[in-house]
Amino acid sequence: ATPTSIMVGTGKAAENGILFKGGEHLEGTHQLQAIVLDKTGTITKGKPEVTDFSGDEETLQLLASAEKGSEHPLAEAIVTYATENEIDFVDVDDFSAIPGHGIEATISGKHILVGNRKLMQKHQIVLEDSEEKLVDYETNGKTAMLIAIDGKLRGIVAVADTIKETAPEAIKHLKELGIEVIMLTGDNERTAQAIAKQVGIDQVIAQVLPEEKSDKVKEIQSQGKKVAMVGDGVNDAPALVTADIGIAIGTGTEVAIEAADITILGGELLLIPKAIKISHATIRNIR
Ligand code: ADP
Ligand code: MG
Repeated sequence: ATPTSIMVGTGKAAENGILFKGGEHLEGTHQLQAIVLDKTGTITKGKPEVTDFSGDEETLQLLASAEKGSEHPLAEAIVTYATENEIDFVDVDDFSAIPGHGIEATISGKHILVGNRKLMQKHQIVLEDSEEKLVDYETNGKTAMLIAIDGKLRGIVAVADTIKETAPEAIKHLKELGIEVIMLTGDNERTAQAIAKQVGIDQVIAQVLPEEKSDKVKEIQSQGKKVAMVGDGVNDAPALVTADIGIAIGTGTEVAIEAADITILGGELLLIPKAIKISHATIRNIR
């Protein structure tokens, strides 16, 4: 009856929008003890919007033009904001993304930096009295980015992303199933804590560089725990592979879906506890 039960289990899951890549992952799902969730696009909708901008018009023009070269959701928010404010975009001569830090660009001879404190420190930009403002944004769950032009701080832009409506309920169900829930993000500690609080997560690993995400999963595994990683981004792919079970958000990138063992349609987080319940019912039938 074993293969039949597995077929029934994965079939039931599929009907609910939970796509298992193979029946063997039902067993792995049954054994899970901890779940690591990416923040942006997994717990949040991944559609951030600019809430605050301080700086002059030239700063906004250079900021938005530079961000046009980035595929990051933060960049999209800034480009949308500038478009709404009828800013004319200018040609970018040189652009590079610095993972976990921000971006760097050259526009008509001017050197532009947009990103977090780490990026500004690397370039020895003096932050003057902006720390208080940053803390205020971050405490409210916003992601704040600093803008420097030719070595001088010229502005701050803050964006907010909203949590998925069903996220708190999904986290609650996971905890009821006895699963440890952890948030993993490249964003700063304060913003991460504010979002975690909104959804009921009490373990946060923040300021993690993209290439470090998979190491964090390994650390939890080294405590003897079976771990699932849930993510949507290209950055999450190595961690999805490392985890005992990788779960991709159906609305996420193709790369994440490729790397995962399970895909949840529509990015509905309630499907994660649902998948665990189905795995329990299936494995119980086998034994
Ligand atoms: P996550 O996707 O988990 O939020 P990332 O590693 O992509 O984290 O980014 C970490 C931080 O790097 C962001 O919170 C932001 O401060 C900075 N950053 C990344 N991309 C950009 C960008 N295009 N423009 C400005 N800052 C950025
Ligand atoms: Mg993400």
